[in-house]
Amino acid sequence: MTTTAPVPTPSVWKVGVVASVHTETPTARSIMIDVPGWGGNLAGQHLDLRLSAPDGYQAVRSYSVASAGPGERLELAVDRLPDGEVSPYLVDDLQVGDELEIRGPLGGWFVWRPEQTGPVQLIGGGSGIVPLMAMARAHAASGSTARFKLLYSVRSPHDVFFAEELASLASEHFEVTWVYTRSTPTAWPTPAGRLTPAVLEAATIPASENPAVFVCGPTGFVESVADWLVALGHPAASVKTERFGGK
Ligand SMILES: Cc1cc2nc3c(=O)[nH]c(=O)nc-3n(C[C@H](O)[C@H](O)[C@H](O)COP(=O)(O)OP(=O)(O)OC[C@H]3O[C@@H](n4cnc5c(N)ncnc54)[C@H](O)[C@@H]3O)c2cc1C
Repeated sequence: MTTTAPVPTPSVWKVGVVASVHTETPTARSIMIDVPGWGGNLAGQHLDLRLSAPDGYQAVRSYSVASAGPGERLELAVDRLPDGEVSPYLVDDLQVGDELEIRGPLGGWFVWRPEQTGPVQLIGGGSGIVPLMAMARAHAASGSTARFKLLYSVRSPHDVFFAEELASLASEHFEVTWVYTRSTPTAWPTPAGRLTPAVLEAATIPASENPAVFVCGPTGFVESVADWLVALGHPAASVKTERFGGK
């Protein structure tokens, strides 16, 4: 008997059905979607999501996949932009059983594979945690002993995506450092404030250890952090970035 591996068809629109939703923060939620024919994705890949109105108007946006590995169920996590067209619908209106058109998985560069054994520095701002979460999950699921460090910049403790799971993933191989930009937890040792080059240097794996670095978040955050990393001696080729848009 011969078996045939599924053929990936990332350019074909597939219909997914919302399986569950979960509130992550006051402005964000995660969404589990069953997509027949999805075939799985690498940690860090994204997809295109298309919404169609009854009058034929369509809107397409990209979303990182928070889950990784084989299977037909995937997870997204979406933050609502107050003046946005698509994200308020996904966060406030989408219901279990609703259908969404999905194309992917897309992108083969901003990915981490379990066979990579070198140290990894993840740096996320806001919803930029999403593809990094897929990498953290893949790291844990594979039993990898590669050193992983996450620097996660959020406005306040209420704005943390995947809070409980991140806490549960902490181990000798996975360390999280938090930067709170507007308000901190009670008795936090440092005041709230934006990420600075000094904090970045203190909280990340040094360039001398040659980590693979993944930076994701709003465009301005990603560009500042990437510039600072290069100034700290990280080769530009080791710093992979994913920009979510905005300033
Ligand atoms: C590869 C990729 C992966 C992404 N993954 C995620 C994800 O996992 N979760 C997630 O929540 N978003 C993600 N995004 C952002 C997402 O594609 C949309 O841009 C976002 O949901 C806003 O769409 P919207 O239709 O609500 O806003 P729009 O109507 O498109 O824009 C409204 C306003 O907000 C500004 N804007 C657009 N995007 C942002 C942003 N990210 N931050 C601040 N201002 C912005 C626009 O310039 C505009 O002024 C990703 C983007 C890319 C390119």
